[in-house]
Amino acid sequence: MTEKILKELEEIRKYVMIKHPFLFSTIAKLPVVIENVKTAATDGRKLMFDPKFWNLLMFKEDKVGVFLHEVLHVALRHVEAMRSKTYKGTWNIVTDAIVNDIVKQLGYDLPAPAITFEDLAKMTNHEYTADELRKKSATELYWIMLKYVKKVEAEDLIPRSGDESGVAPSIDIPTVDVFGKMAGNIPGSLIERIEELLKPKVDWKRLLRVAFYRAYRGKGRYSWSKVHRKLPNLRPGRFPKKVVEPRKIYVLIDVSGSVVSEKLVFYQFVSEIAEIAKEFRTELEIVLWDTEIKNIIKSRDPKKIVEEIEKTPRGGGTIIDDAIYYIDDRVEESDAVVILTDGQVSSSPQAQKIMKELPSRVGVAVYCYTLEIMEPIRNSKGWKIIRIMP
Ligand SMILES: [Zn+2]
Repeated sequence: MTEKILKELEEIRKYVMIKHPFLFSTIAKLPVVIENVKTAATDGRKLMFDPKFWNLLMFKEDKVGVFLHEVLHVALRHVEAMRSKTYKGTWNIVTDAIVNDIVKQLGYDLPAPAITFEDLAKMTNHEYTADELRKKSATELYWIMLKYVKKVEAEDLIPRSGDESGVAPSIDIPTVDVFGKMAGNIPGSLIERIEELLKPKVDWKRLLRVAFYRAYRGKGRYSWSKVHRKLPNLRPGRFPKKVVEPRKIYVLIDVSGSVVSEKLVFYQFVSEIAEIAKEFRTELEIVLWDTEIKNIIKSRDPKKIVEEIEKTPRGGGTIIDDAIYYIDDRVEESDAVVILTDGQVSSSPQAQKIMKELPSRVGVAVYCYTLEIMEPIRNSKGWKIIRIMP
């Protein structure tokens, strides 16, 4: 039985390599093995097919579809990217929708139940349409879906432990370029997904640190100003700037969002902030909010902070007003304010006004987000905006 399946897989492999040459280099480096994996799976280095499952596939279209599904996971490096995700199953659902969509655009079928963007839209209770989701990057989809599905175990993406030697073959970009232009048969969405891979990964931890160092220990102790307020007789030029240290760091954390549930990233964020507070020898005050303030933590111990947050009950809605009023009453000139949210937040005009003016009242104001930049912050100068990625 195994012999027959392997022969069939070999045929499909050749067929796909000839029919879709942009996948040639990916497939050429990928061994195909028969293994009891329930359906089909990949660890990024080989493709695994379950003999029983394979024999249940009736149509050639389905078989090619299943083969391509696993190949595309490898080409788009989904196994590697899964490493940094707490909810590997959620990541698997999201990337399945992505590859299934491409499989269909390439003209093949998949055996039911193959997850689609329509399914994802349904899971969000239609807060998003399938087409809106189709336009999101894999990471954005992951943040969005975390609100609705928290699956810990992945299905067909198998994490590898340890070494990255013999790094998994990814899609060959020059091949895509040459063949894609020649043949014009690469689905547009696949090209976009590949471009997404090529974008340099933003080091948000570094950016967070840089925001603090620039604000409080900027390169020069001089700054350009038009006319010195205290010495109006001086002509415009470089003047000494007061060196300030932050008195206190306020961190406003949206506990309703998906940021808090992505434990790996959240712990990194809290550790980074705690580390900065220690370096600047400053107090750290963490304000947890969803529709109102839920808890206030005064500690620089990341473990303790995370424990406190896990103990804090949280609801569904998200209104930032309370948290903003809280700091509005308290911030001083040298303080730092950091907001962490998914960005899907309501706010009153009053709170928006405070947010708009906040950067001019404090040493530094940093907005860390996963999905959206809140309106008042997008349109106000002075906020340092940092996207948090898993
Ligand atoms: Zn899959």
